[in-house]
Amino acid sequence: DARRRPSASSGPGRTADGHPVALLLNIGSAADLGSPGAGHASAARGAGQVDAEGVGLFRTEFLFLDRREAPGHEEQVAAYAAVLRTAPGGHVVIRTLDAGTDKPLPFLGLAEETNPALGVRGLRVSRVRPEVLDAQLDAIAEAARTTGVEPWVMAPMVTTVGEAADFAGRARDRGIARVGAMVEVPAAALRAGRLLDELDFLSVGTNDLSQYAFAADRQHGELADLLDPWQAALLRLVADCAAAGREAGRPVGVCGEAAADPLLATVLAGLGVTSLSMSASAVPAVRESLAAHSLARCREHARIALDADDPAQARRLVAGDR
Ligand code: PEP
Ligand code: MG
Repeated sequence: DARRRPSASSGPGRTADGHPVALLLNIGSAADLGSPGAGHASAARGAGQVDAEGVGLFRTEFLFLDRREAPGHEEQVAAYAAVLRTAPGGHVVIRTLDAGTDKPLPFLGLAEETNPALGVRGLRVSRVRPEVLDAQLDAIAEAARTTGVEPWVMAPMVTTVGEAADFAGRARDRGIARVGAMVEVPAAALRAGRLLDELDFLSVGTNDLSQYAFAADRQHGELADLLDPWQAALLRLVADCAAAGREAGRPVGVCGEAAADPLLATVLAGLGVTSLSMSASAVPAVRESLAAHSLARCREHARIALDADDPAQARRLVAGDR
């Protein structure tokens, strides 16, 4: 179909019949946006920039790694401002620090744990070192003021509604207007609707959500079949989050590896997610796949995948349904 060729190779994410699914980028610093960042807004927005609608996951860990002390205020402001200035579409979702004993940062002074993945990580670090989160939120708020670009800000590893409310309070106190959470813990997915009473958006991190839903270490090669994002139980959790978002009229995206699989992207669109965030190299194939399927076809893919016996069958049946 000649009419849809342009949308298949550039521009915003759309199904064949025009339903929008925003294509966003996962980045670790302004350098991932293909520009030096600091202070060259107009040049950076020009040629050479990745064709995406924004940044869906800015992992801020890089700033904190290999440090004896937390980065200072000015350094943090500069790093966040560089991304806010250069992001396509002026849309950036900043994730606050995701550290813990699995991603250890000496200056946090966390106690040794036998089960780091189940311990004090992500937002939970703010239980013992709240000042680290507060300082980060101060720096994000200042970067927003300096650049005039309002970031969306979300916390990793949110588990309860109370944690979401606490995080939202800290962020809103600083004038941050769009506050959300990553859904990486099944308990959070099960309470997605209630989370959205406190928050403006959700972003499903399928890497950790798989790990915690299937009780399978995400680094464990022997368990890769359990961590397959085509697992129906994982997709069920994503579906519940998307349904809660639709009900609340709030965006629910996916920012884990699942979003980078072109065929699975049609399933996720069919489940009702509003954005897909991935590395820049994955964007063209995902855009093309969405543009080749109508929303009705995506919904059929979602139905098939939710009903499949296992990931291999899900892939086979969905691939055969085109
Ligand atoms: C995830 O868990 O899916 C995610 C996007 O976060 P990270 O990979 O940084 O843990
Ligand atoms: Mg994660």
